Amino acid sequence: MINKVFSAEQLDDKDPLAHKAGAFSLPDNTIYLDGNSLGPLPKSAEKRAVEVVQEQWGQGLITSWNKHQWISLPQQVGDKIGELIGAQQGQVICCDSISINLFKVLSAALKMNPRRKVIATTRDNFPTDIYMVQGLLDLLGEEYSIRYVDEASISSQLTDDIAVLMLTQVNFRSGLKLDMKGITEQAHAKGILTLWDLAHSAGAFPVCLDDCNVDFAVGCSYKYLNGGPGAPAFIYVARRHQDSYQQPLSGWMGHSAPFSFSPDYAPDSSVKQNLCGTPGVIGMSILDAALDVFDDVSLKAIDEKSKKLQAFFIAEAKRAGVLEHFGVASPPINCRGSQLALAHDEAYAICQAWIAEGVIADFRAPNILRIGFAPLYLSFADVEKAVTRLAIIMNEKRYENATFQQRQSVT
Ligand SMILES: *Cc1c(COP(=O)(O)O)cnc(C)c1O
Repeated sequence: MINKVFSAEQLDDKDPLAHKAGAFSLPDNTIYLDGNSLGPLPKSAEKRAVEVVQEQWGQGLITSWNKHQWISLPQQVGDKIGELIGAQQGQVICCDSISINLFKVLSAALKMNPRRKVIATTRDNFPTDIYMVQGLLDLLGEEYSIRYVDEASISSQLTDDIAVLMLTQVNFRSGLKLDMKGITEQAHAKGILTLWDLAHSAGAFPVCLDDCNVDFAVGCSYKYLNGGPGAPAFIYVARRHQDSYQQPLSGWMGHSAPFSFSPDYAPDSSVKQNLCGTPGVIGMSILDAALDVFDDVSLKAIDEKSKKLQAFFIAEAKRAGVLEHFGVASPPINCRGSQLALAHDEAYAICQAWIAEGVIADFRAPNILRIGFAPLYLSFADVEKAVTRLAIIMNEKRYENATFQQRQSVT
């Protein structure tokens, strides 16, 4: 047995974020290691949900578009998200899903780099990112193509026929975190526009879009931003590109004057052009309130605690002999996001057995037990308990139980 340097209790005692768990409505007796996939419910969001439905919609009816400024929610929420991802005001808008937003941005980016016909990305990117490129290529015809670059050596594969480089900063499966600043700089040196997907970045650690000189970014708000299932996503368009940016989903909300009801489309000259149809006010209001949990904390503090939680998990898992059963499928702590991937052929059943013990993580095909560390509500005591329960599951081979082997439709 290796002795502990600090106990979970000692670490929790000196945790500057310990009070934040009180801002969430979490179920009793549940340890949540899946905030990287669906963040839990902030109390502020719960309150706003009632307010927006009962008062603003129920009582205010259509007057709430003005009275409660529903109409400017996409910009207001966009700017709030902007603060968390290093974007000055007026460059982020909240709308639609990542998938739809990728279509808009990729289309616009290709138009801005018209002599080039290649979209580059990694094969290991999240499938929807790749699928959206495939769908767009189908529409554009054979002149355009997708090229896969190897995640481990992106900069050496940047050639001057690439129009846009689409990367996800943190790999959804392994957690590998790419060097946003360095890669963006190298892409620019070759005349390539960059599009970063922040699905596993926003709300997890400091992101500095302006500082990294990023061209475009997209991200979702239901993971580390705790906006709720299917909460609206966001788009970042760097100010310097807004004049020449034109995306093809030219709905009325992206018109420069939607309420002129003109038959001719005239795009708004700001990031607002990315709005297509009527925003989902209820979901966006809930997200707006959910973001309040970030008001008095820094992303730096969140990142620091995440690293400590992850290091503690690994130390505990080693101590309890758990790691002998798994392969570690993540890069070292300084090269990954706020998640850890453990490989095991029975990862699905292990995850189900862990859930039965009150510890929720998730499974990613083919063999990954994925563990998310969301520092706003996770304590060191939670991590300790989670490891203890995983040790029992592994030692007793509880995952062999038939009930844990049955695959559900969402993993
Ligand atoms: C979660 C995630 C998505 C989800 O896309 P939606 O259109 O919001 O469903 C996209 N890309 C990455 C990298 C993700 O992790």
